[in-house]
Amino acid sequence: MTNELNPSKRLLMGPGPSDVHPRVLRAMTTPLLGHLDPEFLKLMNETKDLLKVVFQTENKLTIPMSGTGSAGMETVFVNLVEPGDTVIVGVNGLFGQRMVDVAERCGATVIEVTAPWGEIIEPTAIEKALKQNPSTKLVAVVHAETSTGVMQPLKELSKIVHVHNALFVCDMVTSIGGIPTEIDDNDVDAAYSGTQKCLSAPPGLAPVTFNHRALEAMANRKTKVQSWYLDLSMIQNYWNDERFYHHTAPITMVYSLREALRIILEEGLENVYARHKRFGTALHSGLEAMGLELLVKKEHRLYQLTSVLIPNGVNDLEVRKQLLAKYGLEIGGGLGELKGKVWRIGLMGYNATQTNVTQFLAALEDVLREQGFECKPGAGLLAANESIKEQVTV
Ligand SMILES: *Cc1c(COP(=O)(O)O)cnc(C)c1O
Repeated sequence: MTNELNPSKRLLMGPGPSDVHPRVLRAMTTPLLGHLDPEFLKLMNETKDLLKVVFQTENKLTIPMSGTGSAGMETVFVNLVEPGDTVIVGVNGLFGQRMVDVAERCGATVIEVTAPWGEIIEPTAIEKALKQNPSTKLVAVVHAETSTGVMQPLKELSKIVHVHNALFVCDMVTSIGGIPTEIDDNDVDAAYSGTQKCLSAPPGLAPVTFNHRALEAMANRKTKVQSWYLDLSMIQNYWNDERFYHHTAPITMVYSLREALRIILEEGLENVYARHKRFGTALHSGLEAMGLELLVKKEHRLYQLTSVLIPNGVNDLEVRKQLLAKYGLEIGGGLGELKGKVWRIGLMGYNATQTNVTQFLAALEDVLREQGFECKPGAGLLAANESIKEQVTV
């Protein structure tokens, strides 16, 4: 016989999933409604409305897709891209690379505009690519690149893309609920996200949003969307008033998303963003005071995901193993070309607290000292606490 499920206590401070808010966990243990029950339809409508507020958009087509963040990525590309379209993708990390793969599978001709991992995509580089490829249909970038910790500025890019009559698409999987997404203000035509990062719900839904330009592009398609499951022309009719059955909504995940969004709005979006900034900045200060170096320069750093360089002579795997074994604390390793070079530390949603900053810095200092890394005892904690105090008085 196998044992009853009893997972060890963990603090999930990696790149996702992050810890689920206890209220979200409770919402998930409530009994199922039928997916066409009028009570459930009301919950679906409420979830859409909450999602619009958190995405900061009036877009009518704002719904959670069934699947993880990558399903959101695929939804945007399969619905907006047809074979033969030209697509420009900003690639400065793993998720930009994944968008290239997805767009190519849709039959697009993909132009990659690259930047070193840890740096932003320069708007001038996108502009140059648009000039060289005037028939480009769509330009996509990652807003919060979780593989590096870079925050991509959007406003200027958005203007450039629209001057060239292309659609502006953003990966907002790690942005939503962590930093402002401002879909309408940034004039983002389509974006996708996920529940497992700063929304503090489990992996399983991928909120997406599409504006009027994106809707027009979909309406003007000459070919059928090649994915039956992700075809929005059908799924829309399930999430709007028609309620045509397409596939059964993952009821429990909708409960979880609704509660996660309610929690964010109870705190207030501005307060949520300020909290991520406050504790993210404190973590940055703490790590630097320990003598560690961050991958991303200050002005382009995310608060909810920090990449720190692994010091020479320190064993990557051993440190992560000890953090997990001694402290039940999970952080992420590097991906792709950053494998073995960085650790990725998440302070996402419910996890962005002073307690977690303190616990992490103390645990890291202990584990690093075991590895022979010299740092002044307590320097990281002191710097983090100073940083937190400074931000209160601002
Ligand atoms: C996590 C993540 C994804 C993929 O989401 P999954 O839930 O793992 O499918 C895509 N883009 C970014 C920026 C992410 O952080």
